Amino acid sequence: MPKKCMICEKEASYCVRGSSECYCDECADDNFSDLELLEKVEKEDKNGKVQAVQQSIPQQP
Ligand SMILES: [Zn+2]
Repeated sequence: MPKKCMICEKEASYCVRGSSECYCDECADDNFSDLELLEKVEKEDKNGKVQAVQQSIPQQP
């Protein structure tokens, strides 16, 4: 489910690194002068899930 801005509850565009706090564009802009602290929220793609890459390599005898 989409993350919401902690302040105005709009759809969040940014989350604080290492935290569950999320902000929309405007609130991120108002509250953080340095957006480097924030991570852009990835919108869910059509598949909804990222497919795990299978890395199991058969062991050679
Ligand atoms: Zn907001």
